[in-house]
Amino acid sequence: MHHLKLGPRAEYRRQESERIRSSATLAERFAQVKSLTVELEYLAPDRLNRSSQLRYTVNLAHAKSVFHFDCPNQECVQGDFDLSTDLANAVAARLPTASGEVVCQGWRSKTTIDRVPCGHVLRYKFIVGY
Ligand SMILES: [Zn+2]
Repeated sequence: MHHLKLGPRAEYRRQESERIRSSATLAERFAQVKSLTVELEYLAPDRLNRSSQLRYTVNLAHAKSVFHFDCPNQECVQGDFDLSTDLANAVAARLPTASGEVVCQGWRSKTTIDRVPCGHVLRYKFIVGY
């Protein structure tokens, strides 16, 4: 029997999607939150080129409390953005808005593991209703 071996990127994605799927929903974790709108702005590592920008209202009953966003770098390995702690801190402090910036901690591609970090940037803003 031939065993399919996943590459480092696919293996990491598989573990992450399992972690997200098994987490509680936002509604379960944050009963005090009545609404959540998220604004996201993705920037290239040089921070000059904006790859995309979006704003949406989160469905609290369906969104997972592992508040995860894919890195826009299609070759990224072991990266992505996890805003779980940022959101939890904002809610714990009952902030109506919170914003910040996270840098992808992955590798730029599977051929640059341990050498070139990914470095893509996600700027976020949460607008929270209680
Ligand atoms: Zn990345």
